Amino acid sequence: MYWYALVGLLATTVLIIENFDILFSRGDNQKFHEIKIYRRFLFGIMAYYITDILWGLLDSLQLFSLLYLDTLVYYVAMAVGVLLWTQFVVTYLGEDNAFSRFLSNAGRFCFAAVMTITIVNIFTPVLFWFDENGTYHACPARHIQLLFQIILLMLTSVYTFRVILHSEGTIKKRYQTICMFGLVVASLLLLQLPYPFLPLYTIGYMLGSSLLHAFVVSNEVDELLQRQSELAIAANEAKSSFLSNMSHEIRTPINTILGMNEMIMRECDKSDTDILMYSKNVITAGNTLLGIVNDILDFSKIEEGKLEIIPEDYELSSLMNDLINMIKTKLDDKRLHLNLEIDKNIPERLHGDEIRIKQIITNILTNAAKYTEKGSVTFSVSYEKIEDDPNALMLKVAVKDTGIGIRPEDMDKLFIRFERFEEERNRGIEGTGLGLSITENLLKMMDSSLNVESIYGEGSRFSFSIRQEVVDWQPIGDYEETWKRSAKSVVGYREKIEAPEAQILVVDDNSLNLMVFAGLLKQTGIKIDKAESGDEGIEYALKKHYDIIFLDHMMPEKNGIETLHELKADPQGINRDTPYICLTANAISGAREKYIEAGFTDYLTKPINTEELENMLLKYLPEDKVRLTTDDGEPDQLTQSEDEIPEAFKELQDKGIDVKTGIVNTGSVRSYISVLELFYETIEDKSSEIERYYRNEDIENYVIKVHALKSSAKTIGATELGYEAQLLEEAGKRKDIEYIEAHNDAFIEKYRGFKEPLSYALKKYNKGEKGDEAGRIADRAVMAGAYEKLKDAAEDMDCEKLDQIFKDMEGYIIPEDEGKLFSELQEAAKEFNYKTILSLLENVH
Ligand code: ADP
Repeated sequence: MYWYALVGLLATTVLIIENFDILFSRGDNQKFHEIKIYRRFLFGIMAYYITDILWGLLDSLQLFSLLYLDTLVYYVAMAVGVLLWTQFVVTYLGEDNAFSRFLSNAGRFCFAAVMTITIVNIFTPVLFWFDENGTYHACPARHIQLLFQIILLMLTSVYTFRVILHSEGTIKKRYQTICMFGLVVASLLLLQLPYPFLPLYTIGYMLGSSLLHAFVVSNEVDELLQRQSELAIAANEAKSSFLSNMSHEIRTPINTILGMNEMIMRECDKSDTDILMYSKNVITAGNTLLGIVNDILDFSKIEEGKLEIIPEDYELSSLMNDLINMIKTKLDDKRLHLNLEIDKNIPERLHGDEIRIKQIITNILTNAAKYTEKGSVTFSVSYEKIEDDPNALMLKVAVKDTGIGIRPEDMDKLFIRFERFEEERNRGIEGTGLGLSITENLLKMMDSSLNVESIYGEGSRFSFSIRQEVVDWQPIGDYEETWKRSAKSVVGYREKIEAPEAQILVVDDNSLNLMVFAGLLKQTGIKIDKAESGDEGIEYALKKHYDIIFLDHMMPEKNGIETLHELKADPQGINRDTPYICLTANAISGAREKYIEAGFTDYLTKPINTEELENMLLKYLPEDKVRLTTDDGEPDQLTQSEDEIPEAFKELQDKGIDVKTGIVNTGSVRSYISVLELFYETIEDKSSEIERYYRNEDIENYVIKVHALKSSAKTIGATELGYEAQLLEEAGKRKDIEYIEAHNDAFIEKYRGFKEPLSYALKKYNKGEKGDEAGRIADRAVMAGAYEKLKDAAEDMDCEKLDQIFKDMEGYIIPEDEGKLFSELQEAAKEFNYKTILSLLENVH
């Protein structure tokens, strides 16, 4: 009977090979319920096969007692197989009806019956017996229970057949296979009835389970794995987008904290060194936090595949200068020496993603500073020509330090996100373990990678080389020299650019911004059309071609992006190829990608920085329309004298207006005056407007108005008012009504509070211009006389007289301490409110 054992062995081998994953893997697919049941069924039939193998062996070896035992187990295993099969079919079809319940119970009954008969057989042969020669004899119960099993298997096929009729495609095929399985095994079992010594049942299972494997289980497992990997990808995407949203959200309050901290530093008593020290610590911690949040944001963007490489022309010396300024302070703090090895022949103007390159080098330079305690950091930049590409080069950057070094076993972990090593040793060093992972990813996006060499305890060298296009082969020379030269040329640029033929359009709902914009470009001679809304801008752009169109992002009704889309939607539009530049007050990282994605060519942050605006013009105006004058960039006399703060405005410094910043923002004293006048004149209207929206709970328009005020205030140098407006704007955006309620009134009061000092300063300036400033300040006597006359006129309810008095006083500068009262009187006179005039004057002596 060895052959009997051989068939069992073959069946077991086939079963194991086909179903190895399901039987032995502890992987995730075990979670899948049906597969779990199927696995149990496989173990059941494997147990049966083993009893078959043993049967063959024990019989051949004539070990009859063991053979008897094995036969008992054999019958039980057979019934277990059928029981598990019915369970699998019922679970797989997933139906809950009378048939499915009957099948499950019938399976259990069959098993219980076989168990009982087997036990009874130990005492009296009902299933089988062996004679003294060891020959096996079957009894009637054997046939009956086999018949039972056959019927049960057939029933599973009938049960499955029902659903085959209603299904299609792959599912149908799977059901057909399950149905076939029942039939095949039942038929072979039927054949075995008269031939107990033929291993037909085993062969039936072997055939059936192969069919199942081919048409049901392997597909099912593949699908499951596919589903699981889809779920994992979705979960990862959700995580990345959560991280990116969170870091955006976190950045806003951090910026507020840093802004408020700056106010504390500015306003606190400079002799209070403790407060200044605390404030400085807030800056350091705040900036570190911001760095971490930015890293997380970048990292999640990389994971989401949203980070793009945006190549632009850039100046290598300026890039390097930024990096060196940044690292120099860090190294100085730790008394580390900085060595520079900058190849003098590298071309100065390259084309690539300057921002990302800066980020990469910043990461490795900062690491060098972080992980070095003594010695030096060497920053080298060189290049190699590319043989078959005359317009590009390989930019080679290396940063070498004499720091702690990296153990060879840690090298592999360098680029793993959130992985930091030697935590114990590096405890005092801040970091997230994200820097190098981001660096490596960014380099990968630029077809490069980071090389690391390190000797533990001696130092490390991080290097990479990336392909950059060359805009101009003019060599950089001595980098520090070149940078100074280029910085100088930007400073003096205001006098150097002329573009009288150029025509640009600027769209902003804030008239003050339009004025500033025009003021900044006055000396260039550029023709500027100004529009105060998206629709007005579109009207202009339909009629005329512009060399550049500047669009404010946040405007009521039609915002910048909507305006842009409308303009670009017209395929015949005359301004289809015009560069569009977005003006925005939201200078967050990632803004660049956002605006470029929206269709803008570039963006500028507000308050507009003159240099940046000029750089934009140089970049986007047609070359033939821009002339550069030949002077060497020294500011001329006019500008120099213009940049001085006029006497009349000096006092504004103490009233919350940083005049110097205002002049820089508006380009010249002259523009500043006009802007300041406009700011002053609109205080009343704008504050009432904000109040009205506040009262009507119209948060949307409230946000737009405080947003506009934020940028106007920052432009004139009223930084604190600007910050407060920004906080209200942010509160409005997140619908934080509580914050607005708590701060709006004080904010409006502060805004209105600017009326007095501005009116005083502007008048003083205008009088000074006319040259008769000294004699015109209203002294005590003049004021007392005026009050007296006002009192009389109010008592007589004589409005004409009141008017005349105020007209007479226009020639005077009202002393500051009287300003508030005087304008209240003026306000009351306008409304013919004689009672108020009298009550205001009651306490004046
Ligand atoms: P971290 O934010 O921790 O600095 P990074 O991704 O930039 O994260 O670096 C990962 C780890 O690599 C660091 O925690 C540090 O152990 C090691 N490392 C990076 N740069 C250096 C260096 N110049 N010298 C020694 N170790 C370094």
